[in-house]
Amino acid sequence: VLLSLLVWATRVLAAAGDGDWAAAYSKAKTALAKLSTANKVSMVTGMGWEKGPCVGNIAAIGAIGFPELCLQDGPLGVRYAQQITAFPAGITTGSTWDTQLIYARGYALGAEAKALGVHVQLGPVGGPLGKIPEGGRNWEGFSNDPYLSGVAMANTINGMQAAGVQACAKHYIGNEQELNRNTQSANIDDRTDHELYLWPFAEAVKANVSSVMCSYNKFHSNWSCESGTLLNDLLKNELDFQGYIISDWNAQHTTVGSANAGMDMSMPGDNFGDNKFLWGSALTSAVSSYVPFLSLTQPSLMIRRNQVSSARLDDMVTRILASWYLVGQDSGYPTVQGWTSWNGGKNGPNVQGDHKNVARAIARDGIVLLKNEGGALPLKKPASLAVVGYDAVLNPQGANGCVDRKCNNGTLAMGWGSGTAEFPYLIAPLDAIKSQASKDGTTVTSSGTDTPSAGAAAASSAATAIVFINADAGEGYITVEGNAGDRINLDPWHHGNDLVAAVAAVNKKTIVVVHSVGPLILESILQSANVVAIVWAGTGMGHSLTPGLPSLVGHWELPADTTVKTVPGQESGNGLVDILYGSTSPSGKLPYTIAKSAADYGTAVSASDDPYSEGLFIDYRHFDQKSIAPRYEFGFGLSYTTFSYSALTISALNTAAGSTATAPGGQVGLYDIVATVSVSITNNGTVAGAEVPQLYIGLPSSAPSTPAKQLRGFDKLSLAAGASGTSTFRLRRKDLSYWDTSSKSWKMPTGAFSVMVGASSRDIRVTGTLQ
Ligand code: BGC
Repeated sequence: VLLSLLVWATRVLAAAGDGDWAAAYSKAKTALAKLSTANKVSMVTGMGWEKGPCVGNIAAIGAIGFPELCLQDGPLGVRYAQQITAFPAGITTGSTWDTQLIYARGYALGAEAKALGVHVQLGPVGGPLGKIPEGGRNWEGFSNDPYLSGVAMANTINGMQAAGVQACAKHYIGNEQELNRNTQSANIDDRTDHELYLWPFAEAVKANVSSVMCSYNKFHSNWSCESGTLLNDLLKNELDFQGYIISDWNAQHTTVGSANAGMDMSMPGDNFGDNKFLWGSALTSAVSSYVPFLSLTQPSLMIRRNQVSSARLDDMVTRILASWYLVGQDSGYPTVQGWTSWNGGKNGPNVQGDHKNVARAIARDGIVLLKNEGGALPLKKPASLAVVGYDAVLNPQGANGCVDRKCNNGTLAMGWGSGTAEFPYLIAPLDAIKSQASKDGTTVTSSGTDTPSAGAAAASSAATAIVFINADAGEGYITVEGNAGDRINLDPWHHGNDLVAAVAAVNKKTIVVVHSVGPLILESILQSANVVAIVWAGTGMGHSLTPGLPSLVGHWELPADTTVKTVPGQESGNGLVDILYGSTSPSGKLPYTIAKSAADYGTAVSASDDPYSEGLFIDYRHFDQKSIAPRYEFGFGLSYTTFSYSALTISALNTAAGSTATAPGGQVGLYDIVATVSVSITNNGTVAGAEVPQLYIGLPSSAPSTPAKQLRGFDKLSLAAGASGTSTFRLRRKDLSYWDTSSKSWKMPTGAFSVMVGASSRDIRVTGTLQ
């Protein structure tokens, strides 16, 4: 008992202001000293569902100038607010593989949230990671590869917090599906957890994220928000997280268990409006009845009485205050606007600034060209064009016609659930194409439905036909067309395969555009030789024809060590039309694998607890291990130009043991750069384009069973025709290590590491070894 008390006391002391947090902690401690127990309990307990202007609210404490705190969704824009930017979803952002754009999106998200008085913006999403292709909320996150997701998490958080809003990395951890999300246990083994699911959260902590949201599901049979292993041990001790842990909305189950497991803020406070608070006065009683010395002599009493120490309460409050100070919200922060759904979505100020440029750049650069035969694309002023499909036109009820995007009507630009925002405008593909066509003198015929015969009629005499299909998913509190959050299959919705078949039967130049929340099985579509191109357009706003993407520089702050590789001011045109007509060459790459059959993934939605028996082998790691040929592999994407790879250089910098000091993100030495790899890329085609060279690493044979290759670096290089550039990847100790379960630490094995650099996970162009 003594030992465990000591260990526990160390945990509480761990939040001391490590790393960049020192000044914020010192201010927080000064403020803490002025607070009564009642103040402290109030600061950690939500005011109750719909009891304030935001989806989560904490009462003000005048004595220290602490405002009523506003917590608001979400990951792609300020939910329910008007005149905001509805950015492309996480998955489309991940498809860009462009850290500058990801940072710019984060900064713009944060700037809009701040302008509306939001203190804590509930995103970005690192969980679900996306191991199950049907998972309902995968589109809210960036990729099912932990490295890509981790880089995107860090850049988004850096951007958001530089703009002044507190970010919230969610949902921690194992909420990989929506079915039974409140009861399923994610039984993730320690190594898999560290190398896959925890990874993006570790990067978030390293980026000084102010808050983390614990998830609805269980972890090894304990609720995530009640799991001392997840919250105290992994997040606060091992990763040295200095911020605070918020419950997902009603994911808390006990007063004392959650407090002692490490949870720091109860949201929304009561159980969705029932006025029953698990913290509030119940926490006050638990703290006031805490008798540690009695517990020492009567350990069983301590366990039975399940109390909470005042030090634990102080720790919760210190963490919340420190995060508020860290991002500078203690002076001159805008007043919160009331615009939640329960007050009618009141019109707030216009906070969009020039952010539509970022939204458009991502919508465009997140497009992945999967197939392009005989130079079908880009379009060159075709005499006639047919545009077919319900996904080509606007929802007849309006872009925001369905609350929380609870329908799949018209063109799909985001999934459904709490991760949505209101569109300020949405220009449907048909309208965008018509506008371009009128400039080109192209005759457009169209069918804005999914009826195959109507599509065929529109397409039969056109030079080229573009068929739009989609697939939607979302959060489990909403069911759309039989999909209760998770998708029921990986087929296009509304019999999209039949629509494509009908059009391709009458038109030899059929182009398929897909708006999808995740992978689809494309085999039926690929059977038709007349399908000459497939454009994977993700989910996100951006079908606008307003020209001009102004300079990226000067509109937001880039991190100090960023070099601008895009050519500012030169990129014009937007979204899909940019790509279809070739004003920009496509440069998106798949952030997941597209398989030939759903069974090939080896993971699926499960009605019972999930043993995570596939371990490390998800997505491309699994396809490699089982030698399954994917249809389009992770990292794949075509361009209108071609690139050659040469001059691979590998340098080991430092193999000495790294520092064992702890800082947010884990041991400092884990993030030391231990090797660099560089490669030269030449655009050897005839038009400008951007390439995403990808670095994959295979561990030496001295390591335990590990995927044959894992992404450990990437870059995005914009190159004029004929131009060359160099990408340099910096490998950190962690990137070359595995999690050793017996010593419970990262181990960098000795021997020969395989270094593979290529244009996708299966298109490796240059290889070498690193000793
Ligand atoms: C979701 C969270 C969201 C919260 C508040 C929950 O249902 O899982 O992602 O932030 O609601 O709206």
